[in-house]
Amino acid sequence: MIEIEKAQQIVLEHARALPAEMVSLWAAAGRVLCDDVTSDSDSPPFDKALMDGYAVRAADAVAGAELDVAGSLTAGQVATCPLQPRQAVRIMTGAPVPTGADAVVMFEHTEAVGVDRVRIRQADVKVGQNILPKGASMKRGEMLLPAGRQLRPIDVGLLAEVGQTAVRVTRKPEVAILATGDELVEPEAIPQPGQIRNSNAAMLAALASTAGADARSLGIARDEPSELERLVRHGLASDVLLLTGGVSMGDRDYVPQVLERLAVRRLFHGVNVKPGKPIWCGLYEQEGRQCWVFGLPGNPVSSLVCFELFVRPALDMLCGRGDRRAERFGKARLAVPFEHRADRVTYYPATASFYDGQPRVRPLNWKGSADLRTLADATALLVIPSGTICWPLGEEVGVYWLPSR
Ligand code: AMP
Ligand code: MG
Repeated sequence: MIEIEKAQQIVLEHARALPAEMVSLWAAAGRVLCDDVTSDSDSPPFDKALMDGYAVRAADAVAGAELDVAGSLTAGQVATCPLQPRQAVRIMTGAPVPTGADAVVMFEHTEAVGVDRVRIRQADVKVGQNILPKGASMKRGEMLLPAGRQLRPIDVGLLAEVGQTAVRVTRKPEVAILATGDELVEPEAIPQPGQIRNSNAAMLAALASTAGADARSLGIARDEPSELERLVRHGLASDVLLLTGGVSMGDRDYVPQVLERLAVRRLFHGVNVKPGKPIWCGLYEQEGRQCWVFGLPGNPVSSLVCFELFVRPALDMLCGRGDRRAERFGKARLAVPFEHRADRVTYYPATASFYDGQPRVRPLNWKGSADLRTLADATALLVIPSGTICWPLGEEVGVYWLPSR
């Protein structure tokens, strides 16, 4: 049995980013860039009016001055001649400011005098007011988004702004999920005596998709080596195969022996964590292609904890995001005193709320690794060291923030 950090280190050292593929701008959100993206042009590409009003020379536009209205520009129109002294041009937001003009006075600060004259009602018109100069937002050739960036919707807008209609991103990992257990039936079935529904597969598929992967279920394997072997073979064609159940010491726990028979190279089996101790992790390599195999314990909370601690870091690496653990581990203060005794580091479901801007955590009344119901109320997992702990209210403790989606 190894420690959590050691197991994570093994995962991070062996996992490499998947090859690149091109995706259209429209499908790029959430994907991880393989190349730096730079700007193809200045933005704005011209001195741009930021308000509806009159383009003027600031020096002419003293309060009370009357100027000749020389024309009108709407967004998309370009002036054909420069603005002359003591002239104003009606200009709408987004239109290029004519040469010669150096300020825009909002309509609200002007007054029409007859049909083609305007009186300025604003004192103190400043050079540059209500104009965004060419290139103020970005310059041509400027670095915008670095390789390795997971694209947010805002980034997609920026890609569109610079005409990047397709980008090279890391291919999405394909995750196959195989539940094992004679007692399992699929969620649509009514369980018969002794049976329970397969809750892990759907949960793991949802978790995998939050980690940027495409997931598919291989169904349920009976606790029987040949059936297990047949279904595992299918799964080995994916980038990641997640099995649940059958990795402990039970009479019908065949997963480790089947994986080793199929030449999946074991990286570790057993981690000093509660819940999740029996986890099995290995790599299957064939023709330069890797398949990560995780045998997760069957209890749903154990499966979830092992996913967060080991599978999510692997998916981060495969997706090209690198080691992101620091974003998920943090500190919070206890909202209540808490006592606990365990022989292993325990990830314990808790809810978090904010008090004076600081996170406060409250352990839930959790009934152990089969208790998915209580886990559904959790927004965090307390990281409790092994041994006997006796924490007072307000104690600062380690937490793992569960993803909210
Ligand atoms: P195992 O790891 O196979 O010993 O299973 C441990 C516990 O988890 C048993 O109570 C199983 O019935 C339960 N279990 C196993 N697989 C699943 C699953 N896919 N969904 C829900 N519970 C499961
Ligand atoms: Mg089982």
